Amino acid sequence: MTDTPRSIVRRTPWPDTVSRAVGTPLQPSVVYASESPDQLDAQYEGGQGYTYAREGHPNATVLAQKIDGLEGATAGIITGSGMAAISAGLIGALKAGDHVVAADQLYGRSLRLLTQDLPRLGIVADFADPTDIKAFSAAIRPQTRLILIEVVSNPTLRVADLEGIARVAKERGILLMVDNTFTTPRGLRPFEYGADIVVHSVTKILAGHSDVTLGYIAARDETLREAIRQAVVTWGMTPSPFDCWLAERGLYSFELRYDRAEQNAAALADHLASLSGVKQVLYPTHPDHPDHNRAGILLNGRGGHMVSFELHGGRAAANALTRAAPNIAFAPTLGDIGTTLSHPASSSHRALSEGERANLGISEGFFRISVGIEDIDLLKEEFEAAIKAAENV
Ligand SMILES: *Cc1c(COP(=O)(O)O)cnc(C)c1O
Repeated sequence: MTDTPRSIVRRTPWPDTVSRAVGTPLQPSVVYASESPDQLDAQYEGGQGYTYAREGHPNATVLAQKIDGLEGATAGIITGSGMAAISAGLIGALKAGDHVVAADQLYGRSLRLLTQDLPRLGIVADFADPTDIKAFSAAIRPQTRLILIEVVSNPTLRVADLEGIARVAKERGILLMVDNTFTTPRGLRPFEYGADIVVHSVTKILAGHSDVTLGYIAARDETLREAIRQAVVTWGMTPSPFDCWLAERGLYSFELRYDRAEQNAAALADHLASLSGVKQVLYPTHPDHPDHNRAGILLNGRGGHMVSFELHGGRAAANALTRAAPNIAFAPTLGDIGTTLSHPASSSHRALSEGERANLGISEGFFRISVGIEDIDLLKEEFEAAIKAAENV
């Protein structure tokens, strides 16, 4: 039956079919019709069935369940960005008067959230080195309610003392929130170490194709999980169905991509270390990395897909390097299928003074590579040529 002019604005029923779609359907609907007020009541009471997409939709559910499986989590929530996940976790868990102890090398926007935005709501933070359990414990106060860390830091790839911090958090009754974006559940599963909350920027290697901005958050405790869910819905941190659909598609190949990128990263780190234009290479499992023992234990001897290195030269050498590698995207992100290169002094760490950057070991010749899944020989050639060009300025 075809639509007549009278009924054209009415939805045509989805065709019945005896076969089923193999690909995940994309459901952009903002609202879901219920049968009656009684049924709607039952939906709200039972928390079952979709009603309005800000409160949840099937593409987010499917994606969350897949990441839950990777993280060993229950009822994780997808958010509109990684920052939304971090914001939801902090807003859901904290109230005015609470204190946070956070790692001192967090993602830049997380630092900003803790130093600029949350203090306006009466939540304050102190920062400490998460590789030094004594210094980190010393920052804890009676009001400390939450600890926020990343296991591998950006861009110097320091490895936090996760076991020590988890022990202190448990002893003192403090929530431990871990941003697992860099390490990914393929590298480490924070819930197995006692984390209470795990967050991700799904934007990065989980989705993997630099075409979606999304986040993920999961909490161990059911009451906390519900508080976080309410924060996501009320503060409007909901993801778009299309982004969830794309991220799910990316996730199917996540483990293959991660393993290949990590294998490439380890080989590229070795190769960079052999080049005369390179002053130092930072890779967590290299024997000269300050945390290589901890990386061996926590990350099972696996180094991940990120490599940092420093040129002998300064800004002029850095400019020459990116110009001589036009096929490697010079872009401040990570986790894409292709290799990307970032320069912390002009991007993520530009707000710091030169002295503050020097304290972290970040010079004008410092680069971070998010290694992709290309042919490793191609990567070696491109970096070798670019580093030679940087040596000649
Ligand atoms: C990118 C990133 C974020 C923020 O994620 P968005 O999806 O960009 O909001 C948070 N933490 C880490 C470690 C990141 O790399």
